[in-house]
Amino acid sequence: AQVISAEFVKSSVETEACPEDGSPEFALVGRSNVGKSSLVNSIVRRKKLALTSKTPGMHARYASAPNELRKDWNKFTKDYFINRSTLVSVFLLIDASIPAKKIDLEYASWLGQNQVPMTIIFTKCDKRKKKKNGGKHPEENVQDFQDLISEYFEAVPPWIMTSSVTNQGRDEILLHMSQLRNY
Ligand code: GDP
Repeated sequence: AQVISAEFVKSSVETEACPEDGSPEFALVGRSNVGKSSLVNSIVRRKKLALTSKTPGMHARYASAPNELRKDWNKFTKDYFINRSTLVSVFLLIDASIPAKKIDLEYASWLGQNQVPMTIIFTKCDKRKKKKNGGKHPEENVQDFQDLISEYFEAVPPWIMTSSVTNQGRDEILLHMSQLRNY
């Protein structure tokens, strides 16, 4: 799978105002600084498609996540996730270089309980912590996160480890997207 072209289409805070051409959509969500813009730019190989991390948009309407998700997911976000028929999967971004935060678990729990199809994208997997400082390696944080969220899911959602610095996971994400949309 490869990206042929990428363009910003629009910004919207209403499901009704989202593009209506029926293209399959993938939404990126995650807390501030988790690496949403960097991931989009790494996938499309552009420095600035996802402008200032506000509303990433990819061509083929690999669409756009609602911006910053607040602790209480706003009405639009929930409506979009539950009612958007062209939504293929929600990519929940989790920073693998640090232990999960409360809000990460809240996102996962809400998506799991509402049975929204999702993929967990672990970001910043290039960052290795010094063990002696009490830090954990990305692989350990990934395992911890999966243990923590297992109660919200009947089966652990698919997950991919990525880095927008090394482009780790880029091809895997594209392959995953093409497999899902062909179902
Ligand atoms: P957003 O707020 O979720 O859009 O996050 P950004 O993409 O703006 O990234 C937040 C910060 O994390 C920036 O300083 C990025 O350079 C850094 N960052 C994002 N992805 C990675 C990654 O894969 N590895 C490392 N080491 N840093 C990253």
